[in-house]
Amino acid sequence: MTDGATPPVVLTVAGTDSGGAAGIAADLTTFSDLGAHGASVVTAVTAQDTTSVRDIHRLPVAMVAAQIDAVLADLPVAAVKTGMLGSAEAVALVADRFSDQGLPVVVDPVLVATSGAVLGDDQLVRAYRRWLLPVATVVTPNLDEARVLTEVDGPPDVLARLLAETGPAVVLTGGVGSGSCTDWVALPGEDPVPLTHHAVVTGNDHGTGCTFSAALTVHLARRVPLISAVTRAATYTTAKLRLSQHWELGRGRGPIAH
Ligand code: PLP
Repeated sequence: MTDGATPPVVLTVAGTDSGGAAGIAADLTTFSDLGAHGASVVTAVTAQDTTSVRDIHRLPVAMVAAQIDAVLADLPVAAVKTGMLGSAEAVALVADRFSDQGLPVVVDPVLVATSGAVLGDDQLVRAYRRWLLPVATVVTPNLDEARVLTEVDGPPDVLARLLAETGPAVVLTGGVGSGSCTDWVALPGEDPVPLTHHAVVTGNDHGTGCTFSAALTVHLARRVPLISAVTRAATYTTAKLRLSQHWELGRGRGPIAH
């Protein structure tokens, strides 16, 4: 953001991570790194470090609504992403506010963190399926989240079920094979496309899902076509993982660089 041109505005609706790895911290730094102006709506405050999520304080839904309304009333938001929403009410609210904005809506259904920490319950899953997935332009679950959302296993079945039930494009992230990592991109009416890239072997992956979906949101704000936006976001995320591959921060899953 150095040439003086007005940047696109990208909005994240997500939770905080006191350890600075995931959530709003990852989103805003990624937006800024990719030349966008980040607006942020906080849904929940988490007390967490690299080892665990110790506590979650959800903001009143009216306060989440007030933040969204303030941003939408004033700033020319070009794309929005949702991260940890924390409650079925917040999911319904966000779906309501963004259903008719004509914006790319990237839904990262934060239910299971990259670390395996569970961040949502059945009610939340039902709310995603009922309200928010139908509003999404693209939904970006990791394999664990996709399993929870669809109750089926394996990329082909998961992708088919998500597309059948919701209609948006689906990016299934993080299928790790020997030395490589495959993201699947599925568009309605088309065969899923595997996008394979070099896997970075590291324990420092906390915030990976947030970073990927934030980067994807910036590219969609710039109207980059979906497959190309996914490829660029994956390349960006892999580069960040490589940067922090050998960091020694905290006693658990350290942060991805951002
Ligand atoms: N958002 C918040 C606030 C979180 O605390 C977490 C995980 O702890 C996530 C999102 C998802 O993190 P990741 O990108 O590692 O899947």
